Amino acid sequence: MAAKAVEKYGRANDSWINGWSKDFAAELGARGWIGLTWPKEFGGGGRPAIDRLIIGEELISAGAPIGSMWFADRQMGPTLITYGRPDQQAEYLPAILAGQSVWCIGMSEPNSGSDLASLKTQAVRDGDEWVINGQKIWTSFGAVADYCYLICRTTTEGPPHAGISEIIVPMNTPGIEVRPIKDMTTNRHFCEVFFTDVRLPIVNLVGVEGNAFKQTMRQLEHERGGIDRLVSNHALYKVALERADRSDPRVRQQIARLEEKYRIGRILVIREVLHQAPAGFSAATKCFCTEHEWDVAQFVSQVLGPEATLWNQVTQGLAYAPGYTIMGGTSNVMRNILGERVLGLPR
Ligand SMILES: Cc1cc2nc3c(=O)[nH]c(=O)nc-3n(C[C@H](O)[C@H](O)[C@H](O)COP(=O)(O)OP(=O)(O)OC[C@H]3O[C@@H](n4cnc5c(N)ncnc54)[C@H](O)[C@@H]3O)c2cc1C
Repeated sequence: MAAKAVEKYGRANDSWINGWSKDFAAELGARGWIGLTWPKEFGGGGRPAIDRLIIGEELISAGAPIGSMWFADRQMGPTLITYGRPDQQAEYLPAILAGQSVWCIGMSEPNSGSDLASLKTQAVRDGDEWVINGQKIWTSFGAVADYCYLICRTTTEGPPHAGISEIIVPMNTPGIEVRPIKDMTTNRHFCEVFFTDVRLPIVNLVGVEGNAFKQTMRQLEHERGGIDRLVSNHALYKVALERADRSDPRVRQQIARLEEKYRIGRILVIREVLHQAPAGFSAATKCFCTEHEWDVAQFVSQVLGPEATLWNQVTQGLAYAPGYTIMGGTSNVMRNILGERVLGLPR
């Protein structure tokens, strides 16, 4: 399936975030490979989490373009199942399962990335509506998404993390302006999103008003501990392996080290998806796995030598490497979480 998808739709670097094909998402949906692990009563496959890990690993390692369904399958669906109302589940889950609705995540702001509690985009209640004003940034798929899963402030009273809520925002609502950002790989997948007096029904709130911090932390657990954090650039690794001079013992050592780390990372991810890891440990898993991806990128550039400075699909993939340890929470912040929340070390 993965090889055929690459043949048909092309190979993408970091395909879970850069590979775009709604047709392929529809194919996955038709096979029941979206929502594979969701409970059957919500239209999911009810399959064990390890099945999703295996399929995800195969698709991403090959570079199959799964970007248009990945966020919704990984985060929005499970969040709506956990925190959404039955009417919201009935409205949004079927299109996600069919690979037909694309979601973006509106968390980061120009002055609020790691410190989510400081975010300023505000939803003010006006009768039966929310009126939303503010700006998000680095919103992956902002320009093509049908919905934004918006994290915003619904009150300025109390401690900062207490007044944050989650609201579903259809991206065609008047008052939304999306400006794609060209990154150094020349991609335009992430965007600035501006909200000016955007009006939405109050029923678009997900879960409990003011409880988003807890809900978002649960979402980030889905986001951080998955196989996508380990094999983003595995397709590039395979290119380098074919070219590497294995007669050189130093190269063999490097390959051995990468293979060893890949296997450790895989065990960490398996522990996460089987819910065998301690609470909060996904921060450590994310940190270890994305730093491995960074090492892979360095190995690929070293094997390619001067060719790594020419602009082609491989080098474009290499230029993406700094993003691994930033998106979904930086390694510094992951280490803080590990130290404070998991190991109980003093701040
Ligand atoms: C490819 C990519 C895709 C992304 N997609 C999305 C998306 O779809 N939706 C979305 O909302 N966001 C997205 N992001 C944004 C991402 O979540 C943020 O970039 C990330 O959380 C860091 O926030 P920041 O950029 O504001 O950096 P800052 O938080 O300003 O951090 C700057 C530096 O300070 C360090 N730092 C900050 N606080 C601490 C601390 N307490 N202790 C130690 N060091 C600290 C950081 O490690 C970093 O090195 C994406 C980012 C990338 C790279």
